[in-house]
Amino acid sequence: MKQNYIGGQWVDGATTRANINPSDVSDIISEYAHADEAQTLEAIAAAKAAFPGWRQSNVQMRADMLEAVGAKVIERSAELGELLAREEGKTLAEGIGEVIRAGQTIKFYAGEALRIHGMRVPSIRPGVDIEIVREPMGVVGIITPWNFPIAIPAWKIAPALAFGNCVVFKPADLVPGSAWALSEIIVECGVPDGVFNLVMGRGSVVGETILTSPDVNAVTFTGSVDTGSHVAVSCAQRNKKFQLEMGGKNPMVVMDDADLGTAVNVSLNGAYFSTGQKCTASSRFIVQEGIHDRFVGAMSEAMSALTVGHALKDGTQIGPVVDQSQLDQDLSYLEIGRGEGAKLTGGELLNRETEGFYLSPALFTETDNSMRINREEIFGPVASVIRVKDYDEALDVANDTDFGLSSAICTSSLKYASDFKQNSSSGLVMVNLPTAGVDYHVPFGGRKGSSHGAREMGPHSVEFYTATKTAYTAA
Ligand code: NAD
Repeated sequence: MKQNYIGGQWVDGATTRANINPSDVSDIISEYAHADEAQTLEAIAAAKAAFPGWRQSNVQMRADMLEAVGAKVIERSAELGELLAREEGKTLAEGIGEVIRAGQTIKFYAGEALRIHGMRVPSIRPGVDIEIVREPMGVVGIITPWNFPIAIPAWKIAPALAFGNCVVFKPADLVPGSAWALSEIIVECGVPDGVFNLVMGRGSVVGETILTSPDVNAVTFTGSVDTGSHVAVSCAQRNKKFQLEMGGKNPMVVMDDADLGTAVNVSLNGAYFSTGQKCTASSRFIVQEGIHDRFVGAMSEAMSALTVGHALKDGTQIGPVVDQSQLDQDLSYLEIGRGEGAKLTGGELLNRETEGFYLSPALFTETDNSMRINREEIFGPVASVIRVKDYDEALDVANDTDFGLSSAICTSSLKYASDFKQNSSSGLVMVNLPTAGVDYHVPFGGRKGSSHGAREMGPHSVEFYTATKTAYTAA
């Protein structure tokens, strides 16, 4: 049984929960502790008690600790990647890639610990000195989703610690394994007692306690729009700083002048890799009429050649859906799309040697942007094609969504590429690249219904994890 980590101790939870492999439901990875409200409050109290010491801690010590954590994560990437693929269902290669990315992100923030710059500014009053400094927020609650079980925890925990905050980390219920392994490494690398706390358990219990406790000063959340809206209201009512990264309905525009091979490669990658379970997944292909039929034909052919199977099996390109409830959601949207008059290719339940949640990639054609399948996040291997006549219509349709996380265009025209970069209403814009796939040293985040608050990743995360103070001194 894997325990919670609170105030420097590994402790049992109030109950436990089994971590089940979606590629093979007979494979139980382990039992994981589940905290109740009282245990979550203990973790928050431990973080609060550790904060005065940690905020004064030497930045070289913080940098060395994070460097060691990042290096160890990378050193163990083969084993942790396998664990990740086993609990979440992305392929082994994707799992290992995510672990390495998590390690690189943590190492980046080791450096950022040394770069918490302030500013000295001339005053408009003679004989007065002004300093602007950044100070840590205090206790930061970290709430993460299941689809990036180690990368998202890493890109929140590392800057929180680097900038002098104490952490209460609540991973997603479905994927505690990677979160637990990352926590074990943080503990092994010498994080002081109380500075980092792992509290596994239900969102409605552990998450809710983090949101409502007056001793949590800031909450960083990644997950669905519904939960994110609740986090926003709850934090706003208590005047807590918060940051939300939520869903997407990301468009991929394919212009007549696109290279067809590139368009198909980036579209397959964006829509179906990681079983389409990425907030940055492409879900709307907005295709100009001259290339439409060739694109649909080439996509259908390429999709049928994709190997769907056990995440750990050699040759698997698309793993299973994460669990029964996500599979039910995907299937219900396939019904909704059919009911709306769209034509479906793929989207079939598949049997494999082991019992798991296998679904073949699905593509709807003959759709329009008002359909529910084009407005609501499905979060599975399901995408639609919307036919448009020209670039202006493509841009309008791309921006006509409540979301604004990522967008992409495939074109050989500099004019369309530059215009799209300027006028797309999303926070990330890609040219001749998939909507998914980002670097760790630059800001990440969306606009409109996809995100709220300061950007994550890169140096920009200092905005969320610190507060500025302006100090005036009479000389
Ligand atoms: P979710 O909203 O169901 O859960 C996210 C986290 O919130 C989990 O840890 C959950 O336990 C917790 N939670 C649930 N109820 C809570 C409550 N009342 N109070 C506090 N916490 C609570 O999301 P999910 O299903 O785990 O993840 C999928 C979603 O995440 C998708 O919508 C996806 O687009 C989004 N996502 C967004 C990004 C991004 O950066 N924009 C990245 C990955 C995933």
